[in-house]
Parts: sequence; structure tokens; C-alpha cells
Amino acid sequence: MSPARSLAVWLLCAAPATAADVVLVKAARLLDGRGGAPIAPVVVRVEGDRIAEVGTLVAAPNGARVIDLGGATLLPGLIDLHTHLTDKPGVHWEQALTTTTPGQAALWGARNALITLRAGFTTCRDMGPTWPYVDVDLRDAIEQGAVPGPRLMVAGNYVSSTGGAGDARQFSIYVDVPIVRNLADGPEEIVKAVRTNFKHGADFVKMLVTGAVLSKGIPPGSQQYSDAEIRAGVEEARRWGRQVASHAHGSGGIKAAIRAGVRTVDHGSDLDDEAVALLKGTRDTFYVPTLATSDAIVAEDSNVPASEVERERAIRVLQDAGFKRALAAGLPIGFATDAGVVPHGKNAREFVVRVRMGQKPMDAIVSATSLNAAILGWSDRVGTVEAGKLADLVAVPGDPLADITLLERVSFVMKGGVVYRDETSPRP
Ligand SMILES: [Zn+2]
Repeated sequence: MSPARSLAVWLLCAAPATAADVVLVKAARLLDGRGGAPIAPVVVRVEGDRIAEVGTLVAAPNGARVIDLGGATLLPGLIDLHTHLTDKPGVHWEQALTTTTPGQAALWGARNALITLRAGFTTCRDMGPTWPYVDVDLRDAIEQGAVPGPRLMVAGNYVSSTGGAGDARQFSIYVDVPIVRNLADGPEEIVKAVRTNFKHGADFVKMLVTGAVLSKGIPPGSQQYSDAEIRAGVEEARRWGRQVASHAHGSGGIKAAIRAGVRTVDHGSDLDDEAVALLKGTRDTFYVPTLATSDAIVAEDSNVPASEVERERAIRVLQDAGFKRALAAGLPIGFATDAGVVPHGKNAREFVVRVRMGQKPMDAIVSATSLNAAILGWSDRVGTVEAGKLADLVAVPGDPLADITLLERVSFVMKGGVVYRDETSPRP
């Protein structure tokens, strides 16, 4: 940048904001996402879509808008690393392929995005639609202001082996779904699938490295991609400067994914001691469990086939033990829900399950804010309440460190300086 241009940029940034651009958000306390002591009381000065200043005493121009949240606790906008926003609740993905259209997925995606945003989740990594690339369109529609929703990082079209967890052709051999081309076998086909995803707008790659609970393919405990196949996907994604998220339940697949250098091990159910040791030895791969799914899948109204409910019952025991192992080892644990399996907008149930299983409330909050931002590579814009970050703020009515279930009752949501929910401040 030339000296003249950098001076012009500086002057633009240094120009005082007019009162019309400034919003002061006041609350009883702030948990800023970094895990330190609360700031109480707190005032956050928002200018446009950014946070300008955070403190107990904050200057503001006369006439600035004030949002007084009273006794509420302010937090950074929450981040969910594993959603399926375009899934309609109660419709199995295999059924969706034969009875629905991409249009339905897009419209329900817009509805689910709004519900998720109003539940306090201002950023989501979406782990793949049933109809390929509908998530790319949803991300773009949100960015362009056509529909309200969280900031999205999207998978486009997940990559699965033939007969694997994501084999979308789990019908008679005579039935084809030509629009869904997500099967890749062998390193060469995987490289092609990764390239195809990025060409069509995906931000990262989701690889199914083991079987799944909600599938008729290979069992969840079995590794479905070979070590070489996973490595091929990771290496190709790296050439693009992108990440791989790996769906993995069984310990063999979990360890193969860690060794291959994936960014996240999603679900990570059978996380054994060796997997914990591997994770301790790397700073680049994170365990991202989805614990609240168990209750949702075995619920009577879940509409999940009996054979898959049985898969869940077996996995749950391993999953709970794996989480406790990770906690005991002090691993950083990413926060995710698999929303779509858990009802959209009920993402905060995951906090409640985690705390019930022994995680400290503050650690669960850090997971869903600054840690998740770091995992996404978005620490420069989201995950904490600090000057310079995007003005993504949520509030709950009381102290979530004393009662984690308050996160299920988010009363205020701001994303990029725009308010999407406010049930706390008094009406004028
Ligand atoms: Zn999922």
C-alpha cells in the first residue's frame, strides 16, 4: 500500500463516528469469550458493524442510541461448528432425496437460519446439505441481505465412499439420484471431489471417514476411507488454503483423520487414550463432539428408523466416555451440535449436556466463542467482545456461570451491529 493510500485509510478510520452510527449496549456483566473475570457492569460501544470500545466507562457522542439490557449477561455471538441448516426437521436425508426438492431445502434453510440466529448463534459452520450446494446459496443470500441468518462457512457437497455413511444412493441399484454426485473412491477421485467442491463455492471439505448413525451404510465404528484417501483430501484442501472437517465415530477412523491433519474430528465418539495423546501432540486438529444428539435421536418423535436408533444406543456409551476422557486430559474441545438432528434453534442444549457431564460453564462458553473462532481461522473477526471485532453480541437474562440453562433463553441478539432479538431492554 502506498504511503498516501495508507494515510487516507487512517483518516477514514480515525474520523469520529456520528451519533447516528453509534449504539451503546449496557449490561450487568460481560463474559468476553476469553475466559477471564467478568467485566461488571459493562458498556460496549458499537460503531456500524464493529465493536469500537468495551469497558465500564465508555465515551459516546450525544444522541447515541442506548440499549440497556439491565441485569443481563452479555457474551460474544455463539458459534456452532456443525449444523445442517437446510435439513427439514423430521425428514430422513434418504427420504428427502426421493420426496423433496432443492427449493424446499433452500426455503427451510432460510427459516432454520433465522431461528438459529435468534437463538444466539451468529456464526455456523454448516456441514452439508442433502441437496448439494444449497448451503452455498444460503450463505450468499445471508451475506447479501436477502434473508437473515448466521455468518456461514459451508461444505457444499460432503465427500463419501461408495457404501459409506454419505452414500446418497442407498436404494436399489436400479434407482439413481443423478443430481447428487458425492461419491469418491481412491485418492484420485477424492482430489477431484475436493476440487469440484471448491469450484462450486464450498469453503471447506467435509469427509466422511467412518460410518454414521443415521445411515444404512458401513457401521459407525468402521473406518470407511483409508489413511491414504484421507491424506489425499487434506493435501488437496491445503493446496487451496482450506480445511477438512472429518465425520468420525470409530477410534480407527478418528486416529487416521488426526494423523492425516484434518482440522476437526467431528462427533469423535470413540476417542480412546491413543487418540487423546495424538490430539495433545498437535495444535492443528481439534475434537468437536456433538453430545446432545443422543437424546434427540432416541426421542419417540425423532422419526429415525429402529436400526439407526440401535446404532445410536451403542455409540452413546463410547461418546460419553470419550468426552470425559478429553475433559480429564484438558484438551481444547470445539463446540458443535449437529443441528438438524437436534432441532434447529435448540443448539444451546449442548451447553447443558456438557455441563451435566462435568465441563465447567466458563469452559463451555469459551469453546463456543473464542476457541471455535480460532478453529475456523476467524479470530480476527468473531469469537470475543473486543474493539475491532464484528459487533456480534448476545445476552441472557442472568448469570450463565450460575445457571447454564440460561443460554437456552437468549434474550438479545446483535449480528454485525444489527439487532435481531431484544426482549430485555424496556420498550420506549
Ligand atoms: Zn452432521
